[in-house]
Amino acid sequence: MKITRISVFHKDFDLSHPYYLSGGRLKFERIDSTFVKIETDESVHGWGEACPWGVTYLPAHGKGIRAGLEEIAPGLIGKDPRQLDRINRLMDVTLPGHPYVKSAVDIACWDILGKVTNMPVCDLLGGREPAPVPIASSISTGTPEEMLDNIQSYRDKGYRVHSAKVGADVDLDISRIRHMSTHQLDGEKIFYDVNRAWLPREAIAVMNAVDVTNSWFEQPCETLDEIAMVRARTTQPICVDEGLHTFTDLTRIHRDQIAELVNIKINRVGGLTKARRLRDYCLGAGISMLIMDTGGSVLADTSTAHFAQSIPAVSCLGTWSCQEMLTVDPAPEQGARNIDGCFTAPDQPGIGVEPDIKILGDAVAIYE
Ligand code: MG
Repeated sequence: MKITRISVFHKDFDLSHPYYLSGGRLKFERIDSTFVKIETDESVHGWGEACPWGVTYLPAHGKGIRAGLEEIAPGLIGKDPRQLDRINRLMDVTLPGHPYVKSAVDIACWDILGKVTNMPVCDLLGGREPAPVPIASSISTGTPEEMLDNIQSYRDKGYRVHSAKVGADVDLDISRIRHMSTHQLDGEKIFYDVNRAWLPREAIAVMNAVDVTNSWFEQPCETLDEIAMVRARTTQPICVDEGLHTFTDLTRIHRDQIAELVNIKINRVGGLTKARRLRDYCLGAGISMLIMDTGGSVLADTSTAHFAQSIPAVSCLGTWSCQEMLTVDPAPEQGARNIDGCFTAPDQPGIGVEPDIKILGDAVAIYE
């Protein structure tokens, strides 16, 4: 089997509400997503999506994906998309680094592999675990009362895992966390997601001032060095998110005991193949995981749901549904959908999502 054509689509998605991260430091109203369709000489094709959640969230951006594909895609023509590791090595030789550029290609190849083997991707990744994957809410930064109200609205939809966005103002953050923690329900998990906003001294001050259970502090500071400094001065559990890009980052997190939990974002780490290496290391090392993408439509969510459902529930604490924040759905009634606050990966071969070309519009680039 050979790749014969790679088509690239660009779609901007408006968010249904403005969204604030990092104590309000980062505001988002629209996200830039790239869809990749890979066709083969055996009339099987696959789809992947890459959406780095705007330009301020990570060292990644939508235009960068499309520019990177210009470098990578021509060399993939004629290659066998089922050979995932070889495809990834070729991409890494052609364009070192830039993992976020490569994830849509990798996901589209997994989609093809699933279709030709007649297996859903979660089974190809090791086997579907029986439990649906809990979806974490996404609680925009606000006053303590606004944030608790927002949590309540997610509870009404079945959510039992929450990602509450804090950061920036130490006193207000202590009030926010105390308020949400005081009203936390039995069995509920809360991630206080700082999105890098605190300096180490601020992280140490907040984390040592609050008494929380079934809760984690996610990416409290910008760098792994800073989080390691915090780790040494608090007993609160820590999750690393934006600080995990490469396998070497993960081995350092483990070696230096920086965190007991990591958030593996498929686009940030370069696709499902590279995420699989991180997953297996985490399982071997006893590190728990959140499995998310950096953003995107039902296609990105569903790729992530397949990956999350290949992990035993005790090690995978949750995922995320970005699709619910968007005003447009490019694949109505397909893929993983929120049922009582959980995702179940589809049973169809591959990823199980075929975007509507009429919604995506014309391809912005075609390589053949
Ligand atoms: Mg996070």
